[in-house]
Amino acid sequence: MGEVDFWTMDNEQWTISKIKRAFLDALFPIFCLGCKREGVWLCSDCQSAIRPLPLFLCPGCGRMSPGGTTHLRCANATPLSALISPYHYASPVIRGLIKDYKYHGAHDIEKIITGLTISGVDKLRTLFPPGARVAAMPLHPSRERARGFNQAATIAAAVSRALQIEIVAPLKRKKRTEEQARLTPAERRENCRRAFTSAPVTGDIILVDDVVTSGETMAAAASALKAAGARRVFAFALAHGRGDRLKI
Ligand SMILES: [Zn+2]
Ligand SMILES: [Zn+2]
Repeated sequence: MGEVDFWTMDNEQWTISKIKRAFLDALFPIFCLGCKREGVWLCSDCQSAIRPLPLFLCPGCGRMSPGGTTHLRCANATPLSALISPYHYASPVIRGLIKDYKYHGAHDIEKIITGLTISGVDKLRTLFPPGARVAAMPLHPSRERARGFNQAATIAAAVSRALQIEIVAPLKRKKRTEEQARLTPAERRENCRRAFTSAPVTGDIILVDDVVTSGETMAAAASALKAAGARRVFAFALAHGRGDRLKI
């Protein structure tokens, strides 16, 4: 009998990436993203100054709509029933937090992101369908191994906490998005559409990501969820990236 190998390769890579980040964090001092005060990612003053700035756009046509719901006339243009997003990605503090969290994965930033998600969801509480469940946008498995975590899963956990609803994980991602850079727009859409598979699901799903820009990726994941049995899919992104130019 050989030795028991407690660490699979995946866990090893995960641990190394965590250690590397901790090492880099120790070398470089951190500054508040809002006021540049040293020693914190975001000081409590700057944290309490953040206000939600939701943008209510139909995920079908990208034009204004009440509560971000899909216009009746746009129902065939998107698998999403609504797009709900409390913060503007153009805000330097919001952008900085999301980027720093992706790169460092620091527990302190995670707490801030969780708090922001909960207060954002709370302000928009009436827009979420009752009885829905939450699912995070998955990362490609190799990217999640390299990063050690999925930021969308952190936000989904906060949504589940804020709305007191169950979290599910039916989605899998098949293809790496980097491949898409070389493709034509039509090929990209097709590639994107095939990037997700879903285990069987029922009822309404709130699909969660950190940032929504074109909405194309969330729409592709929503198609997979609906093909697997979901009744309606509501997209929730912590921040919206392209303001009134959002076009899906
Ligand atoms: Zn500050
Ligand atoms: Zn529309």
